[in-house]
Amino acid sequence: MSDCIFCKIAQGEIKSYVVKESSNFIAVLDIHPHTPGHTLVIPKEHFVNLKELKLELAEEFIKIIQEVMVLLGKVFMTTDFTLGINEGPLAGQAVSHLHFHIMPRFKNDHGGSIHSIVYNPPQESLEEIYQKIKNES
Ligand code: AMP
Ligand code: ZN
Repeated sequence: MSDCIFCKIAQGEIKSYVVKESSNFIAVLDIHPHTPGHTLVIPKEHFVNLKELKLELAEEFIKIIQEVMVLLGKVFMTTDFTLGINEGPLAGQAVSHLHFHIMPRFKNDHGGSIHSIVYNPPQESLEEIYQKIKNES
């Protein structure tokens, strides 16, 4: 897409710090890092979100994520990461081009776990929720 910032990064039209690249993905340093080494893995083709990603790219996607983790782990001397996608605006997705956050984690880095992102427990029981899901699937 012509006005997409991550398409422009993938095409080299905007400067970025490229950590790793594969045929269909590019991994770049996040411009506003939340941790040292905070990296985004971005498909070169424009997919808005994970649901749109072509399944034939899934293995390459996981592979480059793993490779970046190994690389950052060596550079920053850590084995621990927070990994994830803000899927959709309600989840905090600001750039409408799929990207996977890799955030190296450190002792006493003042961060939390994924559980700390939201706390909106359901009013219904687990059984009711489970039945709704089963009825749909
Ligand atoms: P999200 O909220 O998941 O959509 O995150 C978008 C991320 O893209 C944010 O962490 C931004 O700091 C990052 N970002 C925005 N523009 C750039 C850029 N030009 N180069 C690298 N990272 C960027
Ligand atoms: Zn794009």
